[in-house]
Amino acid sequence: MLLGLSGSTASRLLLLRRSLTSGVSASAAAVDRALSAFRFICGDEGVSLGEAVREQHGRDESVHRCRPPDVVVFPRCVEEVSALAKTCYKHNLPIIPFGTGTGLEGGVGALRGGVCFSLRNMDQILDLHPEDFDVTVEPAVTRKTLNSYLRDTGLWFPVDPGADASLCGMAATSASGTNAVRYGTMRENVINLEVVLADGTIVHTAGKGRRPRKTSAGYNLTNLFVGSEGTLGIITKTTLRLYGIPEATVSAVCSFSSVQAAVDSTVQILQAGVPIARIEFLDDVMMDACNRFSSLSYPVVPTLFLEFHGSERSLEEQVNITEEITQSNEGSDFQWARDAETRSRLWRARHDAWYAAQALRPGCKAYSTDVCVPLSRLPQIIVETKEDLMESRLTGPIAGHVGDGNFHCLMVVDPSDPDELHRVHLFTERLARRALAMDGTCTGEHGVGLGKRRLLCEELGPSGIQAMQKLKNALDPKNLMNPGKVLLQGER
Ligand SMILES: Cc1cc2nc3c(=O)[nH]c(=O)nc-3n(C[C@H](O)[C@H](O)[C@H](O)COP(=O)(O)OP(=O)(O)OC[C@H]3O[C@@H](n4cnc5c(N)ncnc54)[C@H](O)[C@@H]3O)c2cc1C
Repeated sequence: MLLGLSGSTASRLLLLRRSLTSGVSASAAAVDRALSAFRFICGDEGVSLGEAVREQHGRDESVHRCRPPDVVVFPRCVEEVSALAKTCYKHNLPIIPFGTGTGLEGGVGALRGGVCFSLRNMDQILDLHPEDFDVTVEPAVTRKTLNSYLRDTGLWFPVDPGADASLCGMAATSASGTNAVRYGTMRENVINLEVVLADGTIVHTAGKGRRPRKTSAGYNLTNLFVGSEGTLGIITKTTLRLYGIPEATVSAVCSFSSVQAAVDSTVQILQAGVPIARIEFLDDVMMDACNRFSSLSYPVVPTLFLEFHGSERSLEEQVNITEEITQSNEGSDFQWARDAETRSRLWRARHDAWYAAQALRPGCKAYSTDVCVPLSRLPQIIVETKEDLMESRLTGPIAGHVGDGNFHCLMVVDPSDPDELHRVHLFTERLARRALAMDGTCTGEHGVGLGKRRLLCEELGPSGIQAMQKLKNALDPKNLMNPGKVLLQGER
């Protein structure tokens, strides 16, 4: 607070100073009018106008520039979220939900200013039902926190994006990770959501307190909100499926002389029906980066990281079939990671691929592509993408959840080099269109955010986009929920 001034006078001065120094957002005056209501709902400490706090909430881990909100609020419960949303609705203020800010598509930027709802004070694990394999959590609980909490129960939650993201943020982006090939993505693992709509209405997408393993009761509201990226409502609770920790686990690394051989092996392993838990592809450039970053010494060639879960007997069978297939594609002998510590080092290195790629060119920024294609098209698209990278003179190590047909080029780009930025832009558009031409999608798990809105139009076609727009209008008639994300709004 500014020295010696009352709370509201200080905040007015701060708003005025911001409007003079950085240009006033359309919503700043409305925020000023709503501030006392925000403070009444969350207390003084639950409302922040501080520049550093706003900037911290105006960016994620993507290359999109920081777009700070006018104010950040920190509700403590769903009733506060609802009351804050009602206030925003009354004053026509945009609402931007914020999880842990690890998104890769610019989803948390406040394009029209407005109010960032930081959900970090809602961090309770509410309802664990070990016998039913489900748990309900508040928005600030992250995947790692949940798994630490579950450790002694013999259960775990398998969806594992590289970052330690919030579980409600993961629901909002329909996240997945290395375990999706066996356990599915957030879409398959969310049972129920509590959501606050723009006008403050509280909705339970599968009915209040319900947690059936399956349902055919009406429209699938749960999966309407999974992947909605904060554009339809604020997720204030999620009920998730849990799994038994497997009796035995073993990981292995296998090197190949070509991309084609590694990817062919992946397709054949899945076609043979091996219930593999993880199968991750890293190209030679990515292996080199991971070796350097994580002090490993694997051969610098196209490589598969594999993991098998099951009973001792079923593991033997899975491993035998997999080895037969990799050897028929001239893969190396497996290098095993059997004990928990070696396994965790291996997968830590995989999860750190993003930072390993950035470390290849200090001072540069990383941008991740995220296409996903039907499995049979995978070898062709990866081979063509490698050729395109070479011809475009770009650094883009490839790492992928290839068991799902999903892979990322982690483009490492010098933000001060306009020519390189232009080449990256053209390359990423070509790659997305190549995936669309192969019946795939421009985003397998990161979401649309800001950067893929035009590609979404190409992917769905006009009638698909119109249907989405009608849903958006029905649930958020004033277009207050995270405006400007996912759907284009008048931009050319
Ligand atoms: C190193 C690294 C590796 C990654 N690897 C993967 C990966 O393997 N797979 C993958 O899927 N992603 C990956 N990501 C991306 C990121 O972790 C996911 O997109 C994650 O789901 C974002 O969660 P968050 O809580 O950080 O969301 P935020 O970044 O805070 O927000 C993302 C979007 O969701 C909305 N949102 C957040 N919380 C809520 C809520 N409670 N209600 C409504 N809307 C909300 C926001 O408005 C925004 O539009 C990675 C990111 C990094 C930095």
